Amino acid sequence: MKPLLDDETGTMFKHAPVRVTLAFPNRYSVGMASLGFQVIYRMFNNEEGVACERAFLPDDVDAFEKLGQPLPTVETGREAGDCELFAMSVSFELDLTNIIRMLDVVGIHPLREKRDDSDAIVMIGGPLTSSNPYPLVPFADVIVIGDGEQIIPVVSDALREATSREDFYDLIDGMPGIFLPARHTHEPTWATAPKELLPAYSQIVTPHSELSNMFLVEAQRGCPRPCTFCLARTMYGPNRNNGGQELLDVIPDWAQKVGLVGAALSDFPHTKFVGRTLTERGVKLGVSSIRADTVDEELAEILKAGGLRTFTVASDAPSERLRRWLKKGITTEDLLKTAQISRDLGFSGLKVYMMIGLGPENDDDITELISFTKELAGINRIALGISPFVPKRHTPHFADPFGGVQIIEARLKRIQKELRRTAELRNVSAKWAWVESVIARGGPEIGMAAYTLYRNESIGAWKKALDEIGWVDEYGDNDASSISLPPGQYAAHGVSAHADGLAV
Ligand code: SF4
Repeated sequence: MKPLLDDETGTMFKHAPVRVTLAFPNRYSVGMASLGFQVIYRMFNNEEGVACERAFLPDDVDAFEKLGQPLPTVETGREAGDCELFAMSVSFELDLTNIIRMLDVVGIHPLREKRDDSDAIVMIGGPLTSSNPYPLVPFADVIVIGDGEQIIPVVSDALREATSREDFYDLIDGMPGIFLPARHTHEPTWATAPKELLPAYSQIVTPHSELSNMFLVEAQRGCPRPCTFCLARTMYGPNRNNGGQELLDVIPDWAQKVGLVGAALSDFPHTKFVGRTLTERGVKLGVSSIRADTVDEELAEILKAGGLRTFTVASDAPSERLRRWLKKGITTEDLLKTAQISRDLGFSGLKVYMMIGLGPENDDDITELISFTKELAGINRIALGISPFVPKRHTPHFADPFGGVQIIEARLKRIQKELRRTAELRNVSAKWAWVESVIARGGPEIGMAAYTLYRNESIGAWKKALDEIGWVDEYGDNDASSISLPPGQYAAHGVSAHADGLAV
């Protein structure tokens, strides 16, 4: 850990009676790029009597386990599992097996029912818990749903006062955002941070993060747009914009690279003001997302001055009719205009994110995708990032089926064949997107299926484990009769009884 620590700015070192380990079930570089993880770290360390240290999954977990050593924390190297609270932040469905692995590596039994008062309390929060907390039920003592800012002081109070696990539960039970699987069967109201606890901003900057040396600051939480597939609008809602000067006030003078975080930054009213102020100071910029229908030359110039070399926008659907179906509000004309601006201002290319496998999608939609990508590539270099559509709870698409591995693979093959000389293509595997879709809709039984395979995870292992629990899913094919139905009108195949009926 020493070389990592030496390269960090902002590390907090503290000794206190209540020890919290804040773990990220993935590599150091991934965890350190999570703004939520960094905020929780600072908040725990600012609590009186509480000291929080970080832990990450080793790059090679098998090799690490062979050493027979306990997993150390980053700050002091103490045993990560030796603490009062073992908190994990989890962003992605496919990190489910990593959560189980993490508990195993630190010597905490992954199954809640096998633990007792002598074990650390296991608390899990992060975007996945808002999306679907139910697969975490077998593993977590506490699941935090929604914004973490409100929860940390309450949990810290309870940790200081509680004399037993039940006592701890009593002290936090009933709080918005607190889901206690030992006591509750349904998720609670989500926690929503009051505006005065925002903006969120980085605590530690390091070159070893995936966002190397970047200081992150949250411009907005939530999104006012109506895109039906998008979890950000419900998960981070209601939309809360921070003030431009508020953002500048929390950015330290030493920051050389600043990442503005927000679901739709081109809707944020202060992006240009903050961006221009920072670039005039010589600061490099990073932005998480820009809508193609709001890009103009002024914004593009600011981003160029901030060192961006490629422009990134989301098309999200392969055709205009499907973008309308998703209420995305972006037209092919918007994409062409953005490509032109990116070329005129000397950006080296345009990255376009896209989903396929949408319910009413057919071959004509893919033909349109191929055709407008060729048009875009006639203007600037194009990189196309393609992900299979994964329906999520808390969206109107909750009950839609997954598009089907075979159909999505066939469409990907066609796109690759017809566009391989036109655009740089990257795609997410259809098979792993199917696993993601199962975890996104499943209940505790999916958590238990993950428990049977977490040491040897593969598509084959998932199929076998899901067969064993009788999970019915549209792995192979989609149902053509679904075409033309509006979102949410499909038959809900394979939806867990625990999760069924909880869509917005
Ligand atoms: S896709 Fe983008 S614009 Fe649409 S609701 Fe989500 S964050 Fe907002």
